[in-house]
Amino acid sequence: MLGYAEEAFDNSHAAFERHIHPEDTSRVSGALQDYFSGKSDGYRVEFRMRCKDGAWKWVLSRGKVIDRDAAGKPLRMIGTQTDITDRMRVDEELSAYRDHLEEEVRQRTAELAAAKEAAEAANRAKSTFLSNMSHELRTPLNAILGFAQLMGRDSRIPAEGLRNLDIINRSGRHLLALINDVLDISRIEAGRVTVSNAPFDLDDTLSAIEDMIRIRAETKGLDFGVERSGLLPRFVKGDANRLRQVLINLLGNAVKYTDSGRVSLRLRPEGDRICFEVADTGPGIAPEHQQRIFQPFYQTDIGIAKGEGTGLGLTISNEFVRLMGGEIRVTSTVGQGSQFAFSIPLPETDAPAEEAVTVAQRRVVSLKPNQPPVRVLVVEDNADSRLLITHLLEDVGFVVKGAANGQEAIESFQAWQPHFIWMDMRMPVLDGYVATQRIRALPGGDKVKIVALTASAFQEDQSAILAAGCDDLLPKPLEEARLFQVMGDLLGLEFNCAEAAADNKSPGEPTSALDLRGIDPSLRVALARAAETLDVEGCMEAVARMRAAHPDTAAVLETLIQSFRFDRLLAELQRESGQTEA
Ligand code: ADP
Repeated sequence: MLGYAEEAFDNSHAAFERHIHPEDTSRVSGALQDYFSGKSDGYRVEFRMRCKDGAWKWVLSRGKVIDRDAAGKPLRMIGTQTDITDRMRVDEELSAYRDHLEEEVRQRTAELAAAKEAAEAANRAKSTFLSNMSHELRTPLNAILGFAQLMGRDSRIPAEGLRNLDIINRSGRHLLALINDVLDISRIEAGRVTVSNAPFDLDDTLSAIEDMIRIRAETKGLDFGVERSGLLPRFVKGDANRLRQVLINLLGNAVKYTDSGRVSLRLRPEGDRICFEVADTGPGIAPEHQQRIFQPFYQTDIGIAKGEGTGLGLTISNEFVRLMGGEIRVTSTVGQGSQFAFSIPLPETDAPAEEAVTVAQRRVVSLKPNQPPVRVLVVEDNADSRLLITHLLEDVGFVVKGAANGQEAIESFQAWQPHFIWMDMRMPVLDGYVATQRIRALPGGDKVKIVALTASAFQEDQSAILAAGCDDLLPKPLEEARLFQVMGDLLGLEFNCAEAAADNKSPGEPTSALDLRGIDPSLRVALARAAETLDVEGCMEAVARMRAAHPDTAAVLETLIQSFRFDRLLAELQRESGQTEA
């Protein structure tokens, strides 16, 4: 094996040891010792031996004692030596290969970690972009809506002007709602959606949805009904807006995809939860699509064929339901219909405070007399916005000063000791967070009321704002009623108010009932469809088509559309369809 002729190899143990690789000798003698002392059951060891030509061979050596003296000391041993050089080479190659693989895995893992970090950074950049973008969009919108509100207070403006102002106001609000909708999807993608938990009137919420869906169902000749079973609470605690959005989406789909039969919304209590089920007698959804329809942008052939929608509705709905503590389950039989069901916690509660409703309906005219003067500092870098709030407050009787950044705010606070500060949070030089913290640390800084003005899209900024020391925060664009409400609450002020009209109509809104009799039913359907999706152009197109035959009705409808009173428009259309049926 080692290249020696048999007789040329000295068969002594010493000669054997001389041929062992120096690095292996201790291992070999250790294995022998362990065997002799009984520590191991057999002698078995792998090591390198030098060949006659000086090369090294790997050897597997196995042995066994065959003769011992009376004391048990080994006398003679027999054994085998097997050349395992080839196996060891393969082992080494395998081991090198394994090391290489491990290195590759390490590298790949590092690359993936870097890619993940890059994706997360991109996501953060997107969130920041959205947050900034919404700030940029809302700031001018703040000025548009605010000055329109301010001009609405001007008694010199004639009725015609007030009507135009109202249109500016409603268009601005509509734009704001659109910005918010787009942000919804982005927020979900960024994992930043939160749900609110406030008391609301479940009956009211459901009947508003019912009215809206009934018109859609009836225009398609479908039967529609809300089926309540068990004792359902009227006032519950939860997120009314998200629930509304989910139900309108599910019911909207049911009506959209069903051509005949019935669409129902079923409700039943389940302890503190309420179970909602939207059922239709439409085309149904094949089992292989039933989970995929919840993926973003996924539509079945039926969905694509409709040519409406984006495939986002169910994704958003599912996410909202999950956040509210439930899960949407779908069951469906092709050709028979589908049911979308979910249950969410909606514990019964007391009626929400009336205050919130009434204050929003009153218009503050002035501070009541016999109250000490109230000094208000308006901190806002945007000159238009600053001027707007200043005007609004002075109009009502506050003493107002402005500051263009946090530094000026601190100086003004020290020199002038205002009672109340409106604090924009994003400003050059010194932002609202730092300014608020510094003012709070100054003498008198613990008493002044500070309310943040924020255009940020993301709700979690709230906690940072409150942590900086603000008493409250209001989103931009600023709602006049909320502005006075917050000031009144924090400072204990009393205002003289002008009550809004009992039915909360805005100026310029037509009071005469609409006469929709005689209008072509297909035009009524087109108008209802467009109104449901808040599609101004669509509505105006339908109105244009009826103008020649019904100029008066067209004029009234136009005013409703321009003031974005889709709710009234739909109610009128529904009333008319009820009368036609009767
Ligand atoms: P969209 O309706 O805008 O296409 P959705 O996310 O709401 O998007 O729905 C995704 C898809 O699921 C639809 O395109 C449609 O194929 C299918 N779908 C949803 N609701 C129903 C239903 N009630 N009946 C049949 N198919 C439905």
